[in-house]
Amino acid sequence: MSIRQLPEDLINRIAAGEVVERPASVVKELVENAIDAGATRIVVTTAGGGRSLIRVEDDGAGMDRDDLVLSVERHATSKLADDGLDNIRTLGFRGEALASIGAVAHLTVAARTENAASGLRIEVDRSRKSQVLPQAMNRGTIVTVRELFAGVPARLKFLKSDRAEAAAVADVVKRLAMANPQVHFVLDGSDRSPSNWPADGELRARVMQVMGADFAENAVPLATTRHGVVVTGLAGLPTYSRANSLSQFYFVNGRSVRDKVLLGAVRAAYADFVFRDRFPAIALFLSIDPAAVDVNVHPAKAELRFRDSGGVRGAVIRAILDALGEAGYRASSTVAEDVLGAFRAPETESAPIPVLGAAPSGAFSATSPATAGQERSQTASFDGLAEPSARYEAFELPPEEDSYPLGTARAQMFENFIVAQNGDALVLVDQHAAHERLVYERFKAELAGGPVASQMQLIPVVIEFPEEDCERLEDAAPTLARLGLYLERFGPRAIAVRETPALLGQSDIDGLVKDIADGLAEWDNSEALGDRLDSIIARMACHGSVRSGRVLRVDEMNALLREMERTPHSGQCIHGRPTYVELKKADLERMFGRTR
Ligand code: ADP
Ligand code: MG
Repeated sequence: MSIRQLPEDLINRIAAGEVVERPASVVKELVENAIDAGATRIVVTTAGGGRSLIRVEDDGAGMDRDDLVLSVERHATSKLADDGLDNIRTLGFRGEALASIGAVAHLTVAARTENAASGLRIEVDRSRKSQVLPQAMNRGTIVTVRELFAGVPARLKFLKSDRAEAAAVADVVKRLAMANPQVHFVLDGSDRSPSNWPADGELRARVMQVMGADFAENAVPLATTRHGVVVTGLAGLPTYSRANSLSQFYFVNGRSVRDKVLLGAVRAAYADFVFRDRFPAIALFLSIDPAAVDVNVHPAKAELRFRDSGGVRGAVIRAILDALGEAGYRASSTVAEDVLGAFRAPETESAPIPVLGAAPSGAFSATSPATAGQERSQTASFDGLAEPSARYEAFELPPEEDSYPLGTARAQMFENFIVAQNGDALVLVDQHAAHERLVYERFKAELAGGPVASQMQLIPVVIEFPEEDCERLEDAAPTLARLGLYLERFGPRAIAVRETPALLGQSDIDGLVKDIADGLAEWDNSEALGDRLDSIIARMACHGSVRSGRVLRVDEMNALLREMERTPHSGQCIHGRPTYVELKKADLERMFGRTR
């Protein structure tokens, strides 16, 4: 077969295959054009999942007759003034969206400029262009796409249900709306109930409109500049993580992107706080010198390439860690909501709740240990009620109680839960989870300043292991020494522990070293142990923590609460579970139906 130059409509259809993958990609191109045209209000309407109708209407600059004719031509763009690709400040620049859409659908572009007496329109039906016709309209541009892919069965086959395509359209509009809080967005049409996001210019307000007030409430602001990268946006609290990545929004210079460097950086920043299979919610905005990023690596411009990806990664991780660090002990408010949701009012028919039913009124004013003891012997006779494991302390409200966010400890339940009260809330703390996080953070802080302090064992602890474990522990010994754990081979099948991290106090050395040996066996050998330091520290922290089941004195409990308030990330344990739950007095009243 001889080589021939392809006819233009075929070229356009080939290009359309890249740019116009599905209705959502058409919507993306059209809305980006409207934004580039300086629109302040954009209305997106779709029907049939975008297959039967897509209309994007804007109040931007519009086009005059010459521009209108050129706009539907391939490689015609108003956006590359000088012939360079390395300083792109508009969303579009390839000049092929309208031409491509016109190749695979029925396209109408209508436009009117500020000074024009009236509007004009041009129609393109699978690359056949009409004359320019008059069109009554206000300033701006209205692009209508009908019968998308009608003549392209190969493409139609790959489309999902109308509902799924409509959802993809909504997702695209969300991302564009978040990137452009200065623009009023309306999403309408028979595909959905309408969304209306007026512009008040504030990023935070827009994020709330799009991602919900819930997210904004459970997120902390980002604001870091590093390596010439400005990072802003909102980072969700770790306890607000999701099961998929739909609540992750990434923007670079106002462009919504999906980028491995950014995804990886977010994952790394949250690695300590969120389980591997959970996704933190985040709206991440990067501002970077346009010359330091190549946006021309993907036909739909969804991917990009950073010149200094290491610097970008560093800036993002720093921004998130700083923000989460400032949030400190804060756990997500949805934790308390989940707890409240779990309570159900007891059914009226069922047996009376034993304790309340049996206790004469006033008998529960357990202000002294003696009364508490009496109470215990009375209630102990109830079938099915375990011995209560609460400890009561005589309490005078300390005057400063209001000033502590986590309140003042009042009691310990089941040897693991600290009950505290701050001004208007009941705070329940999981002492083991909380302490684990505290020890972990202390470890990391100490390690940052050099090897962790150790304490000598009077008599080395000798632990027996299978030979492979001994080998692995011996290999890891220099790394473990940095963490304050000094091990030595002790014959073929034993390890001697000479010094342990001072932070851990008198803990279960045997269990700790076995745990580390398990970890070493489980981790991929190819992975440098240095990258596993955090996991080792986590294991150490777990062993060094106040186990559940340990009785704490009131001053010990309060010391724990105060340290939580001072320590970054203490709102969740190292496994990503919350360390405390706060129930507002109003929530408690609601639980008991006391609110009017
Ligand atoms: P690109 O956006 O890459 O330039 P398009 O095919 O999307 O290519 O658009 C071609 C040209 O048509 C744009 O450069 C712009 O001049 C004009 N245009 C498209 N949409 C609009 C709009 N909504 N308002 C004003 N001008 C538009
Ligand atoms: Mg464009």
